[in-house]
Amino acid sequence: MLKLTNIQTFYGNIQALKDVDIEISEGEIITLIGANGAGKTTTLMSVSGIVPPRTGEIYFMGQPIHQMRPDEIVSLGISQVPEGRRIFPFLTVTENLDMGAFLRTDKEGIREDMEYIFGLFPILADRRNQAGGTLSGGEQQMLAISRAIMARPRLLLLDEPSLGLAPIIVRQIFDIISKINSEHNTTIFLVEQNANLALKVARRGYVMENGRIILTDSAKNLLSNEEVKKAYLGLS
Ligand code: ATP
Repeated sequence: MLKLTNIQTFYGNIQALKDVDIEISEGEIITLIGANGAGKTTTLMSVSGIVPPRTGEIYFMGQPIHQMRPDEIVSLGISQVPEGRRIFPFLTVTENLDMGAFLRTDKEGIREDMEYIFGLFPILADRRNQAGGTLSGGEQQMLAISRAIMARPRLLLLDEPSLGLAPIIVRQIFDIISKINSEHNTTIFLVEQNANLALKVARRGYVMENGRIILTDSAKNLLSNEEVKKAYLGLS
């Protein structure tokens, strides 16, 4: 479904991604793990066209997207949930969700998806008329994910959904990520520093260090890999 080949992405003269190859099949959850500054966010930004690669190719459903604008990429069915859950603070929960659906014209489908989201996250239903900025951090993350789902993406790019959240909320969000994947058939590309959790929800994983993919394997094998355990799972 998504294929990155030999991606090199720069910020000015600084090369953030080096020879990155990643492949995702339809229906999968894959995760990209790595330390701070490894290049995980940049990888998602390269896919969504916000920081396009200088060289290399990105194909989505067989179509080259590495030279497309971000809005063209969104319209093909790729939605990104950025790090730090950037919701619209002065819009209500419902208005934030409507913003996620702004490219859609199927009113009935939009209404159904909103009900689906309120079923997934009942707290958002309770808060539907409240301004986004008054929600707790965990609720804002739920809203950010929900807003992306409202675009009915085929591929959801999630950047560190666990960041700064209490463990119980993180678990809830990861359960929902699995549910969206299985019930909505949404393919998920998950970037996480919490490697332990990410590898439990994903089928396969990639490990990034200094802008390069240094390892890829099934999530099960990565969880038991001694190097991964030592560097990313806080176990020895
Ligand atoms: P984190 O988990 O801390 O978000 P990351 O793995 O997502 O880290 P990136 O944010 O992709 O890492 O950063 C990769 C490299 O690119 C880092 O060295 C970072 O300093 C650099 N970088 C990121 N954004 C910019 C920018 N706008 N301008 C210059 N350099 C940048």
